[in-house]
Amino acid sequence: MSSQEEKKPSLEEEAHVLYLYETEKKIYQRRFVGFFRKLKKRSGIPLLLGYLLLPWIQIDGRQAVWFDLPARKFHILWMTFWPQDFMMLAWLLIIAAFALFSVTVVVGRVWCGFSCPQTVWTMMFSGVERFFEGGRNKRIKLDLAPWDFNKIWRKSGKHFVWLIIAFITGFTFVAYFNPVRQLSIDLLTFSAHPAAVFWIFFFTLMTYMNAGYLREQVCKYMCPYARFQSVMFDADTLIVSYDKERGETRGQRKKGSDYKAKGLGDCVDCSLCVQVCPVGIDIRDGLQSECISCGLCIDACNAIMEKMEYPKGLISFTTENKLAKGNTHILRPRLLGYGLALIVMVGVFSYTLLTRVPLELDIIRDRSLLYRETSRGLVENIYTLRINNMDNQAHQYAISVEAEQDFRFIGDRLVNVAAGEVYTHVVRLELDPGLLNRGNIDIAFTLQAVDDAAMRDTEESRFIGPFIP
Ligand code: SF4
Ligand code: SF4
Repeated sequence: MSSQEEKKPSLEEEAHVLYLYETEKKIYQRRFVGFFRKLKKRSGIPLLLGYLLLPWIQIDGRQAVWFDLPARKFHILWMTFWPQDFMMLAWLLIIAAFALFSVTVVVGRVWCGFSCPQTVWTMMFSGVERFFEGGRNKRIKLDLAPWDFNKIWRKSGKHFVWLIIAFITGFTFVAYFNPVRQLSIDLLTFSAHPAAVFWIFFFTLMTYMNAGYLREQVCKYMCPYARFQSVMFDADTLIVSYDKERGETRGQRKKGSDYKAKGLGDCVDCSLCVQVCPVGIDIRDGLQSECISCGLCIDACNAIMEKMEYPKGLISFTTENKLAKGNTHILRPRLLGYGLALIVMVGVFSYTLLTRVPLELDIIRDRSLLYRETSRGLVENIYTLRINNMDNQAHQYAISVEAEQDFRFIGDRLVNVAAGEVYTHVVRLELDPGLLNRGNIDIAFTLQAVDDAAMRDTEESRFIGPFIP
């Protein structure tokens, strides 16, 4: 075979085959400590601790945050929400979405880079990986090395600790739905409900897969927020950008050399910004949807700039307008609109929450009988009062009826309802037919807690009598 034939390009090279389903390359992220890494750690740790510790905090003798699905009650701090409060939950989600839009308009994807659970857990899993397998180069070597004792114990140790963290995560998640103390005892005594065990192992597996293996692929391919965030960006949104004007032409050089005379820019082409990137992109290629705005490439590049004695900020948090025109507008109509809407929504929500009365009264008229005449010749209606005491303590309630006519009330006027109880109480109203000026009289039942003036609810109903021509 001649040498010319040997060098002949392969069919794939000739055809420039593009593999649409290429296997993801493993990212060996280099650790680099700088301002943004510290910020990431400081924002992630409180969120992590909050998630892990919240189920262990007790308020009024019950778990501070407990989504009690069988009883259809959500206990959040000192408040209890019922299915009737669904609108408040809907409002809360709308406010959270709006807050995210507003923050994204100003500072881009900082949620992704600093606070998203996927980022926080991946950071934790990466730390464990580094502990067992070492820095970037050691990890690459270890992956290429044969399966000897060193590789086996390092890999096993990493996976073991990952599984422990994943289990704690799954257990904590389920503890938001099952009281944590009882769940712990049940697990230790092998008497936990099969559903609880299933969900603990499900979330353990999900955490292990997401933070251990999928990592940046969750952000790139699975997260819906990553897909639509670019719609919220404008030319004044803060993004992580490489200053092409200043950095190009990139190239290696010695410190202190007159690189500008050789036509080089400030980028020394060290590739450190790529090595520290958790999603494995090169920010020098421009803004990419994969970038989670974590700022780690800024830390790395600033350190290189410092070492080379060049000004920092070749990669920085900046805006498209700042790069193109030299200035940016923080206060812009879109942001003011979002901000105003957010203030109004938070105001209305806070007012509703603070003035919310955890009491609900439903009146159900006897459907089988519109009215009946008593042996004393009075017209009588029967009502079933459904009293839902959504408070965390028992109350005694006084029942009263408001109407133009003076009704005769038959039944207990005082009822005791336990915390969280739905109490059914039947009462009868009687009226002299001579006082019936029409067949249908508007009335209102009022429920007033004896020990708390704020616990009050009124519900309208009707008193029906014989037709008056
Ligand atoms: S390009 Fe920079 S800011 Fe974007 S994800 Fe990578 S390291 Fe983070
Ligand atoms: S870290 Fe800075 S200097 Fe190094 S390759 Fe990236 S942009 Fe260029």
